[in-house]
Amino acid sequence: MHTITIAVDGHSSTGKSTLAKQLADYIGYIYVDTGAMYRAITLFALRAGFVVEGKLQADKLINVLADITIAFQKNSEGKAEVYLNGENVEKQIRTLAVSEQVSPVATISEVRSKLVEQQRNMGEGQGIVMDGRDIGTVVFPDAQLKVFMTASSKVRAQRRYDELRGRGDEITFDQVLENIQERDYIDSTREDSPLRQAKDAIVIDNSDMNLEDQFHVLLQLAKDRIAGRI
Ligand code: C5P
Repeated sequence: MHTITIAVDGHSSTGKSTLAKQLADYIGYIYVDTGAMYRAITLFALRAGFVVEGKLQADKLINVLADITIAFQKNSEGKAEVYLNGENVEKQIRTLAVSEQVSPVATISEVRSKLVEQQRNMGEGQGIVMDGRDIGTVVFPDAQLKVFMTASSKVRAQRRYDELRGRGDEITFDQVLENIQERDYIDSTREDSPLRQAKDAIVIDNSDMNLEDQFHVLLQLAKDRIAGRI
């Protein structure tokens, strides 16, 4: 069957991962959460003591990058989880401490080229849905379907806040909002591969959309592209 590459980019906490994964499962494609890869490297930097007084020591991280291995492995429910040097860190990468440092880590060109190379290899010769910030612009500029997801920062912060509180994190709404706004700023102003809407991307603003509606829009786009209708 004809398979395509689907790139889902957009702002932080727009629900990209949930939607991209749902689509991949439905059409039998591989799903890759590239944010998890940047988060895993950030966790490594935090554990190694490369963040001092809130500031990342990029040189130290660059020096040991070759020794860091990021991989995905499916759990017993079939959900892909991220491994850092052989350790399952799926849970540890979702904390605010990691969220606060991940955008600075993602500005480092050496980090980006390492991960982009790995991401391109994952997409080789198979149907793939990949979500991130630079998938349609840098990783797969020839992707047959590119979607750019956005929503107001307040709506996004509320969703992330509910999620973090739901799993017991002690956190305030303002902390979450501030983190989202800061990540948007760093991600879209960095020099290497800034967060941009690809020219041929279709925008989905989900401020007022439920998950089901978003899924139907995305699924229809995917079906059309797979059938080669557009
Ligand atoms: O998708 P998620 O919010 O988990 O991504 C965490 C961070 O990783 C983003 O804020 C961004 O700084 C970085 N990232 C990136 N390029 C990607 C995916 C994520 O720079 N393709």
